[in-house]
Amino acid sequence: MKSERRDFIKKAGVIASSAAILGAINCDNSSKKIKINRGSGKMKLTYYKYDLKMKHVFTIAKNSRTITPDMQVQIDYDGFTGYGEAAMPPYYPETPETAIKFYKKLDLAQFTDPFQIEKILNYVDSVETGNHFAKASIDIALHDLVGKLMDQPWYKIWGYDREKAPYTSFTIGIDKPEIVQQKTLEAAPYKVLKIKLGAGNDKEMIENVRKIAPEKQLYVDVNGGWKDKKKALDMAHWLQNQNVVFVEQPMPKNQIDDIAWLSENSPIPIVADESIHRIPDVIAARGVYTGINIKLMKSTGMREAHKMVNLARSFDMKILIGCMVASSCSISAASQLSPAIDWADLDGNLLISNDLHEGVLVKNGKLIIPERPGIGVKKL
Ligand code: MG
Repeated sequence: MKSERRDFIKKAGVIASSAAILGAINCDNSSKKIKINRGSGKMKLTYYKYDLKMKHVFTIAKNSRTITPDMQVQIDYDGFTGYGEAAMPPYYPETPETAIKFYKKLDLAQFTDPFQIEKILNYVDSVETGNHFAKASIDIALHDLVGKLMDQPWYKIWGYDREKAPYTSFTIGIDKPEIVQQKTLEAAPYKVLKIKLGAGNDKEMIENVRKIAPEKQLYVDVNGGWKDKKKALDMAHWLQNQNVVFVEQPMPKNQIDDIAWLSENSPIPIVADESIHRIPDVIAARGVYTGINIKLMKSTGMREAHKMVNLARSFDMKILIGCMVASSCSISAASQLSPAIDWADLDGNLLISNDLHEGVLVKNGKLIIPERPGIGVKKL
């Protein structure tokens, strides 16, 4: 197995020092053309719990829910406000209560220069292990604040072309044939669908989608539901014939050698999701997967997600950007990175009925990144 993995790594080809890549990523705030508002104030953090109401009962694996717990945060500084969010689906260990406990440990008032993003977020990361979602909410609010101080959106600060924002997929869950067909019908405005597989009725799921949408591009997410690598490879070939673009997390994340073998032999990319949280996971995924799914809540926010994008690219890996069920706050933050990646699955804000922000829009399935500064949101 190991020699097969090494071969795959060799095929991946690009050799780069991850330390050099990470060290090279920087944001130049010194351009004279950019008007920079600098004050001498202190940063003030405030937060509150907010239940995101689901438009429809949301069913995954073993439970259904009508709300998604959420923390809304803001950082105020010199008359500017940066907004952030921690969206907390119940199948993750973090809750509003763990987030509040974490926020109470933070002392952001010690910083007088929000442009010192590295320093501030290194401090936030050092206060406690874990708490990725809560850390992401602070990171997003700080990016929003700094973008507003610079009067520029982050896609522009990072040098991305707004027009290159991809189409977002819309997810179809595992369900009975008539429901799958109905949901596919309702998803007519979306050019790409993401189909959940792994419950033993995979071909039936795809065939039901194909009855309604014969031509549409499909992504597939197995959530670790396959166990046998040879059967997984047979399915990858079958899915390729069904115009499926990639397979996400085909097998459990601990079946590393099986996944590496599948990635080497599969005709379509094999993308890691459950295996990927932060930078070290990208390094570990090299030679095992052909692509990664980055989510801001898992990566601790925009700063580390941006580094993960650059690192994965240096490994010649494909990149998907995904999300939780969330408000337009964190989805708009994620959309700032979207021109730099291959595929987007940013439909979390479309599933709720009580959004607090106006931000990224979806037009005919394509992400429209707002031109407003920061993360591009306007409070409703
Ligand atoms: Mg997934």
